[in-house]
Amino acid sequence: LSAAARHLLDRLTDEGVEFLRLQFTDILGATKNVEVPRSQFEKALRGDVTFDGSAVEGFTRVEESDMLLAPDLSTFLIYPPFSAEDHEGGRVARLICDVTLPDGTPFGGDPRRVLRQQVERAAALGFEMLVGTEPEFFLFERPVPGSGGRQGTVTHDRAGYFDLAPVDRGERIRREITQHLVGMGFEIEAAHHEVAPGQHEIDFRYAPALEAADRLATFKFVVKRVALEHGLLASFLPKPIAGVSGSGMHCHLSLTRGGENAFADAGAEDGLSPTARQFIAGLLEHAGGMAAITNPLVNSYKRLVPGFEAPVNVAWSTGNRSALIRIPAKRGASTRAEVRMPDPSCNPYLALAVMLAAGLDGIERGLEPPPAIARNIFRMTVREKRHHRVRDLPGDLREAVDELERDEVLAAALGEHVMDRYVTAKRAEWAEYNAAVHAWELERYLELI
Ligand code: GLN
Ligand code: MG
Ligand code: MG
Ligand code: MG
Repeated sequence: LSAAARHLLDRLTDEGVEFLRLQFTDILGATKNVEVPRSQFEKALRGDVTFDGSAVEGFTRVEESDMLLAPDLSTFLIYPPFSAEDHEGGRVARLICDVTLPDGTPFGGDPRRVLRQQVERAAALGFEMLVGTEPEFFLFERPVPGSGGRQGTVTHDRAGYFDLAPVDRGERIRREITQHLVGMGFEIEAAHHEVAPGQHEIDFRYAPALEAADRLATFKFVVKRVALEHGLLASFLPKPIAGVSGSGMHCHLSLTRGGENAFADAGAEDGLSPTARQFIAGLLEHAGGMAAITNPLVNSYKRLVPGFEAPVNVAWSTGNRSALIRIPAKRGASTRAEVRMPDPSCNPYLALAVMLAAGLDGIERGLEPPPAIARNIFRMTVREKRHHRVRDLPGDLREAVDELERDEVLAAALGEHVMDRYVTAKRAEWAEYNAAVHAWELERYLELI
């Protein structure tokens, strides 16, 4: 064992930890874990715990199914008790792991590795990417247990709307989630109710890309867990209810070089450096293919429609919120690009990896973005859009996957294994959706035709 691992092993004893969760994320973004009891801690810290990779979505074939979990010691944290009985058998801690093949070589289907490779690519150019995220989600009433009722989309605070003295469970739960996250060492900048009934947002302070992705993976689990304790369902589905705002996950991206913000240039008219402009140009150039990763569900494209503060077009702006990329007013050390396209159903590792890859491509090729758009794009005519070189984002998942397959830069960033499994899974998802008969079709046509 390394000195650091020894130290951690002692700490596990001192802190009374009885269970250690070895956590990783599959290609589609689901967080998985293997839990080991105290007797296995040393083996776990040595990276000797195996699991059957064939059971995990998009991971491996049956004949090469044994995988090893190599813990990243810097990700250690002890979970708070989410309920009274939660830590009855002892405390529970977790480590996020890299996935390796039985001989110790890194596994090509590990999303965390895909992100780390882009982080290293940035580092080779002298950059580090910082990421602040704003995930949004809904809280829904659960069906009464045993009633046979199905999960629906009745929001907690619409239910309280007609009450005379409503106690907003949503607010309480949001506060509790925030407290847990802060207790786990996460830096939370703000938490607030969002536009739609039952919709909330929790904002993370910026962190290096890998840490930001690790936090998002944990965040979703904590939100769901706390909501469940209160009898509510937390959902990160991008558009659970037609006609009201969907849930996005804005990502504030910036690059630093030698500790300085590489996007800032006090001498430029708009305060943006050539590096910032090139990075933005790269994001815009690859936006279509990126969407397949940052907006991965059939449902994601129901959010990307006009009228709900979600982007529809490939454009950037220094002010208005209809653009895919907005540059917030702050300059100097806070100079950053807010990418408004991603939604919280994405795999955070892959999403940050493709955004970084796209931005770095812009820098490497010295791309120049089209002019920033100051007007509300939703109000532009088709001709005006063409004149301003404003393209549309993919209209549905199939278009996005087609664009991803054409994008060699993103394909190289994802690597053959991830690309192959991802595209196959998404094409199957689309085929299934396409073959289904939806409620809308019956409502619209059944009696009329
Ligand atoms: N919910 C909006 C979206 O879908 C964002 C709203 C906001 O944060 N201004 O992206
Ligand atoms: Mg916000
Ligand atoms: Mg918001
Ligand atoms: Mg925002």
